[in-house]
Amino acid sequence: MKTRVELYLFIDALGWNIVREHGFCRELLPYQAKVRTQFGYSSGAVPTILSGKTPREHGHFSCFYYSPETSPFRWMRLLPLALMPDALFNRHRIRHRLAKLIAKRNGYTGYFELYSLPYSHLPSFDYSEKNDIFAPGGLRKVPNLADVWQRQKRRSHISDWRLPSRENLRIGEELLRQGKTDSLFLYTAELDSFLHFHVSEPERVAEKLREYERAVMRLLEAASSSGRECALHVISDHGMTPLAGACDLGRLLAGRGLRFGEGHASVLDSTMARFWIFDPQLRSRLAAALADAPGHFLSEAEKQRFGIDFPDRQYGDEIFLLDPGIQIAPSDMGRRPLPGMHGFTPDDSDSDAAFLSNVEPAEYPAWIGDYFTLMTSGGTDGRRG
Ligand SMILES: [Zn+2]
Repeated sequence: MKTRVELYLFIDALGWNIVREHGFCRELLPYQAKVRTQFGYSSGAVPTILSGKTPREHGHFSCFYYSPETSPFRWMRLLPLALMPDALFNRHRIRHRLAKLIAKRNGYTGYFELYSLPYSHLPSFDYSEKNDIFAPGGLRKVPNLADVWQRQKRRSHISDWRLPSRENLRIGEELLRQGKTDSLFLYTAELDSFLHFHVSEPERVAEKLREYERAVMRLLEAASSSGRECALHVISDHGMTPLAGACDLGRLLAGRGLRFGEGHASVLDSTMARFWIFDPQLRSRLAAALADAPGHFLSEAEKQRFGIDFPDRQYGDEIFLLDPGIQIAPSDMGRRPLPGMHGFTPDDSDSDAAFLSNVEPAEYPAWIGDYFTLMTSGGTDGRRG
């Protein structure tokens, strides 16, 4: 009996607009569809892909949330900040090493970074992705792909997200050639870093996509060399929105005398500012400070629609979302805006993710959480052949 391999190739930031503009894998993977993204960043979207649940259900949204009691950065309160020259201590490399040290000391296995959050703010925050979300039990609140594939006793492989994309593709090819694996989830994040810088350079994007097309071809060849059929599905988490402008939100807040730690706390992500408000009188000043900024406070209805209506308001009492293309700069994620960014409203077409396949699915995924159903359903189960 000939068994069919199910291969899910995750390409971070492969947006529907780019797929369509460049005719990506039109012949190799002719069954293609636009997929609605999960509002937020990879820290919320990847857990959604791995569990089929919304952030409200799986508990992951942005990296940082207000929780001084449980903060792994509590000890930083003792830092002699005045004696720490900004130019040295805020270098990316120093912060990256420090993050590694903290992760090691606390036994964290997840994607753990300090980004550009000021040292004076860090002791107020805890971090959502302390565990490896791809590993069995990695999502704590809900089962993830590894849990389900293990339960289904599939001969499966899920990439190590720490490895370079090229390496994950190479391992995938090797496994397909050996013919002993029935379900694969290959993780590649390189396109995301590429598009953050080159989204508006069509020729370079085309060249990069050709590399991925060749990778798809190699995977299909590897599978057929073992004499098996391969259902290859490309899945992505979100698109990439070209830079349309920057907004110095920190300055707008300071202009109204709103200082971190005085009645409120905030995290300025790249495309949204999240506020925890301890002094209700602050609300009107906050609204006034951002009245002319290009964005809006998310309504409760929007939070519900986006699946981020956390009952305990873990990720903020209020979220101010910038208009598509406008980035907060400087933000707590970086000082300068990037040529491309994601994390805008899922209603904007540049945010759309993509699904591509060489077999027609019984039902096309409409939202990135639907991949989970596809990946775990018996309908395309490789073991039955
Ligand atoms: Zn990204």
